[in-house]
Amino acid sequence: MMSRFSTLSLDKVSRSFGRHAALRELELEIRGGEFVALLGPSGCGKSTALNCLAGLLPLTGGAIRLDDERIDRIAPERRGFGMVFQSYALFPHLTVRGNVAFGLKMAKVPKADIARRADRALEMVQLTEHAHKRPGQLSGGQQQRVAIARAIVLEPRLVLMDEPLSNLDASLRLEMRTEIRRLHQSLGLTTVYVTHDQEEALSLADRLVVLRDGIMQQVGTPEEVYGRPANRYVAGFMGYRNMLDVTVASATGDRLSLRFADAQLTGLDRDALAAGGRGVAAIRPEDLDVAGENAGGRIPACIEVVEYHGRELAVQARLSDGQQVHFRTGGRLAPGDRVDLAAAPERVLVFAPEGERPPEPVEDVPRQKAVTS
Ligand code: ATP
Repeated sequence: MMSRFSTLSLDKVSRSFGRHAALRELELEIRGGEFVALLGPSGCGKSTALNCLAGLLPLTGGAIRLDDERIDRIAPERRGFGMVFQSYALFPHLTVRGNVAFGLKMAKVPKADIARRADRALEMVQLTEHAHKRPGQLSGGQQQRVAIARAIVLEPRLVLMDEPLSNLDASLRLEMRTEIRRLHQSLGLTTVYVTHDQEEALSLADRLVVLRDGIMQQVGTPEEVYGRPANRYVAGFMGYRNMLDVTVASATGDRLSLRFADAQLTGLDRDALAAGGRGVAAIRPEDLDVAGENAGGRIPACIEVVEYHGRELAVQARLSDGQQVHFRTGGRLAPGDRVDLAAAPERVLVFAPEGERPPEPVEDVPRQKAVTS
């Protein structure tokens, strides 16, 4: 087994392709045993970051260190990391056990140990009874488990996973998510996990790193990133689907009184906005209530589309100034109905309009900083 480490440090890690900066000065410290998710939409640079860690892409700037050892110029196979990709990349002609044992053979582990360790890894991913089959005889989820077993059997000091669940159907994805979390908890392997799925990141990771255009926007625990998104972009990614253009009528401490579309609403100031200025009020659909249920303001809206979602309706409505809002309700509504919507002030985050202010630096976690250049 490779030695464990206490800190993996990314120091201004950068990677450009020609003139395009795919990753810009990423600063991050990952503690041994931690599960970190790199999160962001397609093209934000998360795979680039993972490939830089793996050694598959040379850096164009910065350094990566494992404790005091600089590793960014070490060949991938000598880093002692395990990788799990979106495509399972199994050997089709080998059995499940053969696939899992392959790396151990390459590492010249004694034969008796190979059998024992391969069987143990198969047990962990619950594939013991499929050990003799070939990958082609397995379902997608089972193949992905073989890929995971193959990565963990070597007890790598770092496991890197790039969207490992994205080829699975929804229910299998949920099942495998739990499986990955369980394995992480029982083995304590340090894991860096790339995903564009905020729910996956929130449910799996100890800490999330949100990227945009190669620049880190926020790093924090799931509670921090979900509850206190650092900027408008992160908020949008964390389920704040309503981004309403508003005017700040007055400011009292961090409470802002907002005006728009014949509406009155109070929100929390996230960008030091001043009275008279413009802002964007970010609200999750589940935090907008049909008034009467909640005392926070009054937003008149006309219902346009109603979707049945079992216990709730997902509703799209329009404000008098033409802006659209989305909300959820347990009540009955039909297109054409008029309602007053409301939201608790602490559920309304008010940011500066895009382009008027750089993303806010993050102060939640000491020693981590958002890079805004
Ligand atoms: P996805 O989820 O789609 O893989 P991502 O967030 O992982 O997206 P990256 O693959 O890291 O994004 O890509 C970041 C940016 O770098 C993109 O704009 C991409 O086009 C560019 N890029 C990535 N690899 C290369 C390459 N080999 N040559 C040129 N540009 C590249």
